[in-house]
Order: sequence, then C-alpha cells, then structure tokens
Amino acid sequence: MPDSSPFPVDPWLVRETELHLESLAQTESVFALANGHIGLRGNLDEGEPYALPGSYLNSVYELRPLPYAEAGYGYPESGQTVINVTNGKLLRLLVDDEPFDVRYGDVEQHARELDLRDGVLRREVCWTSPAGQAVRVSSVRLVSFTQRAIAAISYEVEAIDAPARIVVQSELVANEPLPAQEADPRVGAVLAAPLESEEHEAAGTAGFLIHRTKVSGLRLGAAMDHQISGPPGTVVEATSHADTARITITARLEPGQRLRIVKLIAYGWSGVRSLPAIRDQVAAALAAARATGWAGLLAEQRAYLDDFWASADVEVDGDPAIQQAVRFGLFHILQAGARAEQRPIAAKGLTGPGYDGHAFWDTEIFVLPTLMLTAPAAAADALRWRHATLDSARMRARQLGLRGAAFPWRTIDGAECSGYWPAGTAAFHINADIAYAVAQYVEATGDVAFEERIGLELLVETARLFVSLGYMDAGGHFRIDGVTGPDEYSAIADNNVYTNLMAQENLRCAADAAGRYPEKARALDVTEQEIARWQQAAAAMYLPTDGVPGVTPQAESFTKHEVWDFAATAPDQYPLLLSFPYFDLYRRQVIKQADLVLALHLRGDAFSAEEKASNFAYYEALTVRDSSLSAATQAVIAAEVGQLQLAYDYLAEAALTDLHNLKHNVRDGLHLAALAGGWSALVAGFGGLRLQRGGLLFAPRLPVGIDRLAFHLIYRGRRLRVEVMAMEATYCLLVGEPLTVRHHGEAIALTAEHAVTRSIAAIAAGPRPTQPPGRAPRPRSALPASD
Ligand code: BGC
Repeated sequence: MPDSSPFPVDPWLVRETELHLESLAQTESVFALANGHIGLRGNLDEGEPYALPGSYLNSVYELRPLPYAEAGYGYPESGQTVINVTNGKLLRLLVDDEPFDVRYGDVEQHARELDLRDGVLRREVCWTSPAGQAVRVSSVRLVSFTQRAIAAISYEVEAIDAPARIVVQSELVANEPLPAQEADPRVGAVLAAPLESEEHEAAGTAGFLIHRTKVSGLRLGAAMDHQISGPPGTVVEATSHADTARITITARLEPGQRLRIVKLIAYGWSGVRSLPAIRDQVAAALAAARATGWAGLLAEQRAYLDDFWASADVEVDGDPAIQQAVRFGLFHILQAGARAEQRPIAAKGLTGPGYDGHAFWDTEIFVLPTLMLTAPAAAADALRWRHATLDSARMRARQLGLRGAAFPWRTIDGAECSGYWPAGTAAFHINADIAYAVAQYVEATGDVAFEERIGLELLVETARLFVSLGYMDAGGHFRIDGVTGPDEYSAIADNNVYTNLMAQENLRCAADAAGRYPEKARALDVTEQEIARWQQAAAAMYLPTDGVPGVTPQAESFTKHEVWDFAATAPDQYPLLLSFPYFDLYRRQVIKQADLVLALHLRGDAFSAEEKASNFAYYEALTVRDSSLSAATQAVIAAEVGQLQLAYDYLAEAALTDLHNLKHNVRDGLHLAALAGGWSALVAGFGGLRLQRGGLLFAPRLPVGIDRLAFHLIYRGRRLRVEVMAMEATYCLLVGEPLTVRHHGEAIALTAEHAVTRSIAAIAAGPRPTQPPGRAPRPRSALPASD
C-alpha cells in the first residue's frame, strides 16, 4: 500500500469508490464493524477474495504454549491468542452456474462506504459474469450498538438485462482456513482449527452452530435467521454439518426483479454456561432482533450514534482530511468499547488479530482519556474489567515477590502473556497507568460509587505494588530501580522518570481515596501506617538528574549513553526493532516512543514551562517513532510549548495512521491508541485540555491551516462545547449545572444560558526542534490537497 489514502475525503463517510484487491487487507480493517462485544472485519460478503477473514468475540481466545529457548523463573507458560470465531457474515452467491467473484467476469461498479452516523457498512456492486449475466448486488451490514449480541446484513440481488437463476448460500462457518503468519513479532499467532463442534442444526430459515475451544474451554454459539423476499417460486433449504450451517435460497429473477434477504446473526459465549444455556441465549437474541426488524435495528443504530456525536463530535475547519480522520477515529474507539461491558479494549480493538488480540497500557493511557469524556460508561466498564482481573494481578505480584497487584503487560483474561520480560514484566508503569485512568475517570465523571467500589481497590493494590517494588535509600530517596518505561528501546533502567512520576501520583491518589472512604479502606486492610508509607514514598520519590542543563534524563544516566548512529541507519532499517538487536538499542540514546515527553503531558505539574520546552527539544532529536503511540503525545507537547506547526504535523501522523496505512500493518488491525491520539492531539493539543483535580483547564491555540476547531465533551454530567478560532475561544455549557473552567489560567464561570468568549494571546516559541535524520514527521502541507 502506498502512504496515501484510497478513501476520498468526506466529513461523515469513509468511502472506497472502486475495489483495489491489493488494498483488501487495509480495507478489511478500516471497514471493520464492532460494538465492543462482536467484531467483524470488512470482508466481502461472499467471503472471497480476502486478505484476512476475521470475526471476533471479545475475550474468546485460545491458549498456546509459550516456548522459551532458555526458561526462567516467573516466565508465563502459556499465551492467549484471539481466535477467528464462527463467521456469520458469509453470503455466497451463484449467478446462473457461476460463483459471484470479483476476480472473474467484469466489475462495472464496486463501491463501499462506512457511514459514521448511521453506523453501517454499505456496498454496491454491478457485475457481469464471464457468461454475460449482469447483476446488481447491494448490501448493508451492521453490528448493533443497542443489541450487543446482534449483527445483521441486508443483501439484495437484482437481475439486469436478462432473467437469471440466483442461488444465495447464507452460512455460518467455523474453523475457516487462515493465511500463514508473518515473521513480524507484532502479528498475532494463527491457530489452525481452534474450535470443536458440539452441536449444529439448520431448519427453515434458521441455523446455529455451537463450538468449544479446545484448550481454553470456552463455549460459543452462533445463530442466524433470515427474512426473505423474492419472486414466487423462491425456494429455501437448510443443511448443517459440524462446522457449517447453510440456508440456501434459490430464485429465478426477471430483469429488474430483486431477491432481498435480511440475515440476522446472534453470538454468545461463556466459560461456564452449559450448552443448552448458550443455545437458548443466541436463540433469544435472535428473537429480540426479529422483533425489532431490520428497519428497527437501523433506527436504533442511528439514534445511538446521534446521541454519541452530540456529546463527542469534533469539528475541524480548514483541513477536511483531519476532519474525516478524527471522526473515523472516534467511531472506532466507540466501536471498541461501547458494549465491551467488563471485557478488555485490545490494542487493535476487534478489527484484526494483531498483537494476538491483547490489551496493553494503550487502553488506560490513550483510549480511556478519550472515552471518559465522550462515552464515560464505556470507560468505567474497561476499568471494571481491570478490577475483575485483580486476583490474577495479585497472584502475579506474589510470584514476583511483590505485594499488591502486578497487572499484566499484555493479556486477554488478566494473566500475563508477555514472553519477553524486559518489555513485559519490567514495564511496571502499567500499574500506575491503570491508577491514573481511575483517578482521571473519577475526576471526569464525579462517579463516587465507582470510586468507592472499584477505584479504591485498584488504587490501593497498585500503591502496595510500588511501595514493595521501590525502596527508601540511605539518602532518603524512594528509588524504583530496574524497570522499563514506555520507551521500548530502553529497558531495565533505574528510576525511569515517567514511571516514578506516575507511581508518585498513584501513591498520592491511593492515600487520598483511602481517606475519603475510611470504612472501605479498612475492609481492604489499609492501616494508617500503610497510608503514611505511601505518602512518604510519594514525597521522597527520586527524580534523577544527569547534570545536563534543562534536561531531565528519561532514566538515571540515560543522557550519558552513546547517541544512536542515526546517520548510518538506512531508511529501510526502521522500525529498528526489526533490524537491530535489543541489546544494541538498549545501551544507546534512541527512543522508540514518547517516554519523558509523555511525562511532560500526564504529569505536567512536575515541570516548568522552560523545562518542558528544553526537554521536548532534547528528546525530539532522539525519537524515531517506531511505535504508533508516539506522535499524538509529541503533538500535545509541541502544541503546549508553542511549536504549533510541528504539532500539526504530528496530529496528521496520528490521525492518518490507519487511513493512510502509515505503519504498513493496518492489515492486522487498526491502531486504537493512534486513533484516540488524533482526538488527543486536537483536544489536549490545540484545545490545551487538561483534567486536573478540581477542574477542566483549557489553553487553546491553533496552528496555521486549521481555521476553526470545535469539540464537545461530557464532564460530570454536563455537556460542553468549546470552539477555538485563531484569536479567540468560546466556551458553551450546553446542558447541566454551572461550572467554572480555566482559559489560559483565567477562571471563567459558565452557565447554561451564556457562551463566554476569551481572546488568545500569541505564544513565542523557540526554534523548531529537529528529529533524527529522515524521521521528521511529514509536513502537513506537503500532503496532497485532496488528502
Ligand atoms: C509499543 C507499546 C504498545 C504496544 C501495543 C508496542 O509497539 O511499544 O507501547 O503498548 O505496541 O500497541
């Protein structure tokens, strides 16, 4: 795929106007539909051709052994891999005697569009078979936000010019063959035929398959039913086998006549429920969807999204491609979390098998900040999932000789799945990241019931972990030695500043929350002495200096390491992790992704404005952005220190990561952190939003090229709209009780009746920081205008 977008710019649609077989892998991810529970890749209705077939159910995974050449204590023995579950979206079509397949015959038209307001994927195809029979096929697919077990497809075939014999085989297929895996470690493991049949049936217009995963023992059911309208003489047959249920619909169409099929698909799974229970669950979900009907499902979907956009939309004038990209990003973030309901939000959501379907810190640090201000219930559920995995995290801490809870670096069900301990086990910052998201969520929503029941325990157990992980040295400093920060080109370093600052906040938040809920804290065995230890550790947290003026070392001694030889590194040697041994990366100054710069964002209170500017410039020269998690953070800090055009370049990189396939691996799924990063670059970057104890801070400032930015937020039950122009910003409380926010430090009182406008002073920034040779972000203005 070239680094450009095959999708014309449109404010609310992502369209593909002709089929490019070479981009199928990308479009399958981009056109994926999900609701947080079910995920369907944008595979063509008839199943073939495909790049990667994919149907996923959140948390349905298989276990596989993690082999080690040299084993060691505490290495996880098995990994979890998301599996391709029963494919319910298949509708194979036979036109006269020939299978409808876009690789044969003539495709006169092939258009697809993802509609971000209707929440559907539409497809229109005009095709003439090799024997000369022309048909028009239209389909509309949805994964329901309102009925979480349901996906549905409306499929229509029309004969053109001459009568045609049409056969549609609507199927459920388990154990679909998958293409072989690539060597790239970021690609998910492929497990051949992970499902064992337990029951199958097909009768009338309906059918179902029940399977079980072989090792993880999860039971899943998929069921389908159809509403069929065709000409008189339309025949329906049903058959089923262990891995296939098929409803075959045969009709003879005169020119202009149509066969219309609405396929309803229901999914359910469980690790504990019996076979009859799962069978009944999917049957019941189908019954509810039948009662709603296709038109009802469409209407519910639209209403759900209207509500979402009213609280979440971001408007961008002056850059239509960014406008499209930020809505595309928000839509996919919503799709990943909306109905996850105490299941994880994986790094790729439910759009592909990349990273084995695992959730990382991406959720708490990149995705949840967006969700908690746009769809807060989904953010709470993601944190409830972490809470539900506390037992695994406590066991892991014990295994590591630590107290409290040690959350996994990567996981589906809560058990550590990282086979590479320097960037897995040692990345203890994940625990402080979870605590940070808890505190931010409570700040954003004022949800005290959540704080008491869920948040407190997460804060307490992570605080316990950090107190046992670090120690008070002879000089009275609390040190956390030998850990890995966000930058994965450094490992096992002492006093990573990001980790220490986030742990400090974790300890403070735990102490404060325990004070607010003394009874609940006592029930968690928290004592006064323990709270005092957290407070002491937080107050004494060691923040190293290497003696370089204006530079905070990423970790102790970092700035003393040799700088990576960027001049000798060829463009095709990036990402460096695929061309150089970690051993070599670890001992030099080279940064995969924002680390100290992320601390400048999340713990901005710990740095002066001058320290932010000088640190940002220092780390820019070392950061290669081999992770898609980096650009958004760089955008936020670039904007804060007044490097507005650089921030704009980074915004574009984050927001267009998937639409432009900038990392060349969209095939394996979308980059949710980067999609959320597009929102952050706009809202936290150019809007200057920070959520701090006691309020919302804004410090808006636009780059040349963006004429107007407006964004909506949900904050403590209120709806707000902030509109930023070059010289002024207007704050409007759309719904809710009066509120005071800050505009560049000035407190402004908002009431529902009055919008308040304030001017924006220009900022003087120093020279534009430079990046390693060849690693500067693409200047936004150099992208083709149509982008
Ligand atoms: C990044 C991690 C991230 C993971 C999943 C890696 O490349 O370095 O920070 O959590 O991808 O997105």
